[in-house]
Amino acid sequence: MITSSQATHEEALRLASGIQRLARNIWWSWNPRAQELFKALSVEAWEKSNHNAVAVIEALSREELVATLYSKRLGAMAHEVIDEFDRYLNDANTWGAVHAARFKDHPVAYFCAEFGLHECLPIYSGGLGILSGDHVKSASDLGIPLIGISLLYRNGYFNQQINPQGWQEETYPIADPAHLPMEPVLGKDGKPLVCRLTIAHTRVAFTAWRVAVGRCTIYLLDTQLPENDMHWREITARVYGGDQSTRVSQEMMLGVGGVRLLRALGVDPGVYHLNEGHSAFLLLELMREQVAAGKPLAEAQEVTRRLAVFTSHTPVAAGHDRFSRDLLDYMMNQWPGNLKIPMDQFMDLGRVRPGDGSEPFCMTVLALRHTRQANAVSELNGRISRAMWKDLYPARPVDQVPIGHITNGVHILGWMNRVTYSFWEHTLGVAWLKHLMQRDFWEKVADPRFLSDEAIWALRYQCKRQMIEAIRARLEKQMMRIGISPATHMQQILRPDALTIGFARRMATYKRADLIFRNLDRAAALLNNPERPVQILFAGKAHPRDDGGKALIQRIINFSHDPRFMGKVYFVEGYDIQLARYLVSGCDVWLNNPRRPLEASGTSGQKTSVHGCVNLSIMDGWWREGCDGTNGFAIGEDSNPDNVEEQDRQDAENLYKALETRVIPEFYDRDAMNIPRAWIQRIRRAMMTLIPDYNTDRMVADYMTKYYQPD
Ligand SMILES: *Cc1c(COP(=O)(O)O)cnc(C)c1O
Repeated sequence: MITSSQATHEEALRLASGIQRLARNIWWSWNPRAQELFKALSVEAWEKSNHNAVAVIEALSREELVATLYSKRLGAMAHEVIDEFDRYLNDANTWGAVHAARFKDHPVAYFCAEFGLHECLPIYSGGLGILSGDHVKSASDLGIPLIGISLLYRNGYFNQQINPQGWQEETYPIADPAHLPMEPVLGKDGKPLVCRLTIAHTRVAFTAWRVAVGRCTIYLLDTQLPENDMHWREITARVYGGDQSTRVSQEMMLGVGGVRLLRALGVDPGVYHLNEGHSAFLLLELMREQVAAGKPLAEAQEVTRRLAVFTSHTPVAAGHDRFSRDLLDYMMNQWPGNLKIPMDQFMDLGRVRPGDGSEPFCMTVLALRHTRQANAVSELNGRISRAMWKDLYPARPVDQVPIGHITNGVHILGWMNRVTYSFWEHTLGVAWLKHLMQRDFWEKVADPRFLSDEAIWALRYQCKRQMIEAIRARLEKQMMRIGISPATHMQQILRPDALTIGFARRMATYKRADLIFRNLDRAAALLNNPERPVQILFAGKAHPRDDGGKALIQRIINFSHDPRFMGKVYFVEGYDIQLARYLVSGCDVWLNNPRRPLEASGTSGQKTSVHGCVNLSIMDGWWREGCDGTNGFAIGEDSNPDNVEEQDRQDAENLYKALETRVIPEFYDRDAMNIPRAWIQRIRRAMMTLIPDYNTDRMVADYMTKYYQPD
């Protein structure tokens, strides 16, 4: 006979095992109830580890975990979450079951140099990584068999600290994969699986770590092995670190190493997706396999072409990876032999003009030549890319260059805070996420009887307060660190009632973080109107070697100390996924003013609509397609002058005009209840029109139907 006490014990044991399992699958990173569960188990471990569920599990002994789960409340919570997790993993009724059945035994292999999955896993630098992380999460949600391949950067990108002079300084964290949500890939002998590849005459060994992302898996290659010399251990140390030879080494590891790992695991992908050119060496490895099997190179190229698709994000020629003959002759000395061709012919694989000895080897050219389809990431970016690569297709007019586009999206759930999640669950019912891509489902939001202005306004205030409180805490630490004693009334900085503008993204110069300061008098007048106060929050990292980007940060820091802007302008250091989540939910307006057409798509603005924040943006990238005049604000027209000086001048003028005549007046136009009705109508329009289109479920479904499925 089982006593009730035994039953309780057995249930607690079952839940404890379930939680262990759950911690190792970052599905929890987009499930708010799972996050609450881990936080409830240890607030300290959760906060200190950057919300890493594995760290929480490690903080508790098995005895403590089991005993804690005797608690009715936590036991019920764990029960609910584990049930949901198992239902998710075992759901046979997915979009992919219908639309991606042919990939069941031959998954999509998705290669990217960076993945932005969660704040506890700093293996990304910016938008490209965020996009690839969101791609995999949506592939999992849709039930598409997909394997991601990247590198495990043990020192991440970097932690950003701003010194007393306002200059960015970098420190490098040391990630120990044993304490992160990943597991070593083991061979048949139960030991870590070791693969090898030759780089610059040296056999370099690597292992891999498996990150479970819902139903999908990402493998991260790692050269931190005792058998490698220090030099080779360093190649997987930092995201885009080192010099050109590090870059080639990283890209060989990613492309060639990635294919070798898949082979060692017995995976035969149905399609290879190169997300940006960094992984294009994988095409050489596929060709090498064919050549080794006795095929002539031309045939090997054709087989490879039929297996691969390529996405390019970079709208400037200089942004594409190019390597000199000398460098490749040294780093890749075996490769002409592997393909049974002389070095010059090898170089030609990556040249626009084969035979031109002065032309370096370009990864994008290699990719465009050896993939069956290619795409850019927004409509305008497609047009720019076709013009940029037209010389590769001399027989075609520019509009027939075979580069299409799929506009980027974001994984909505991963960017949502708890308040917003409850808001939508309450408004649309528990199954709302199943309808993310359905425009007609979102039409409901138009009806104020269904969703009131007051409810939206309440959501706005809740998100804003959460953000402001989190940012005050960060700013306080930031000031103390550099020896400025924080404002005595830290809790009074940043007013929830003031119109709050957010600008956060990589501090690349083309993004023009300082555009709003082009005319200081005008900027000061905008921010300091006592009836209509405005405050601006900035965040973003500059690449360690980008002094132009660092100078931008310094300029903004200086403005934040300038008496004309003090208390109105803040730069928050350490931009990462968590800070992004606060900013895109808490700000009223998301500002984006790149030098058009350099923002290939941009995604940060897509994270905002679900929270009721609205976009104010140049007509570039995704916003050109998303903006319909009622669902946010455009800066300027759907065009740009060729002259950069003139462009900066016009864009600043248009930015001021938009703020002075449209954004600020509408936000402060209140009725007797102090509610900005027109503003809320704009939020409603943003929710209805943008959420169903600019999400990665729609994007990944597009990739599946238009690119992954062979004709
Ligand atoms: C969304 C996001 C980005 C990309 O922002 P863009 O505005 O598209 O450049 C970069 N970094 C982080 C941390 C993000 O969350």
